[in-house]
Parts: sequence; structure tokens; C-alpha cells
Amino acid sequence: MTVELNCSNCGAPLESDVPVCVYCNTPVKPDAVNLTVEEELVVLRKYHTLLRNLDEKAAGDAVAQDQLVRVLKTGFLPRQAEVLIDAGLKLIPFLGLHKFNTIDEAAYGRLEMIRRKLKILTSEDDSPKLKTAIKQFDVALSQYIEKKDNREGGMVAIGCGVVLLLGLVALTYILFFAPI
Ligand SMILES: [Zn+2]
Repeated sequence: MTVELNCSNCGAPLESDVPVCVYCNTPVKPDAVNLTVEEELVVLRKYHTLLRNLDEKAAGDAVAQDQLVRVLKTGFLPRQAEVLIDAGLKLIPFLGLHKFNTIDEAAYGRLEMIRRKLKILTSEDDSPKLKTAIKQFDVALSQYIEKKDNREGGMVAIGCGVVLLLGLVALTYILFFAPI
């Protein structure tokens, strides 16, 4: 018989074999804080399946959108370097996919959090793999900011262009057509 379980923190339904709630990162059992790499990888896979599913729904669904933002902000976060790297790498393609809205901002925040955690872990483990990953995340984060700035700059330029055009139209009207 399978027992339906819900997370004690956020109320989300839990799959029977998952040691940590993918929605809010709460351990299902008190001893679930020390997971092995393999166990964390299993939870991470489930987390990313959830992200993909919510992302598919989010386009026209405000509830799914909110849920996606929440899962990005407070969802499962691995503790071990190896799994954190995997979590960050899978997140990179997600950044900037949503026209830099709250979903992208939340994904940016998650990648930044992963980068910060890895940075702390370098005091115990300064393997080249870890350093390469941190560098890669640095690049992805700054590229995101650059693209976002360009986009905002583009919007401002379009806005200025429209104002200028309207000014010219008004000037032409005043000069040539306005009754004196
Ligand atoms: Zn939960």
C-alpha cells in the first residue's frame, strides 16, 4: 500500500522515495540532511523535471508562473559541490528565456546562490573542476546582466526615437499647417 504524503513545510505532495521536498528543500526525515551524491542527483533530476513541467505551463498560467518563481527561489538546493555544479549547469540555459521577467530574475538568483555556495566550498576543495564551474557561472551571470542591460537600453532608445518623431511631426505641423 502506498501512503500519500505531503511536505510538512509547504504541503506539496511528496513522492514516497524522495528524501527532500523538491519544492521547498525541507528534509522529509530528520536524517535526510546528509545525502550521498547519488541521492542528491536523484532529487536534483526530480527538481529539474518539476522546473520543466512548470515552465511549459507558465506561458499562459499565472499560478504556474508564481509556482515556478517560488521553486526557483526556495526549491531543492544540493549540498555537495559535484551536484551543485550540475544544478548550475542545468540552470544556465534557463536564464534570459523569459524576456527577463520575474522567472529569469529568480533563475539568476538561484545561479548566484549556487555560485556563492561553491565559492564557500573552495576552502575545503579547490579542485580545477570547482574553479572552472565557478568561472563558468560568473560568465553566465554577467552575460545575463549584459543582455538585460542591452534590452533595457534598446527599449530606452526606441522610446527616445518615438518621442523625437512625435516632436518632428508636431514641429512640421506648427511650421507648415498651423493657422497663423
Ligand atoms: Zn515542501
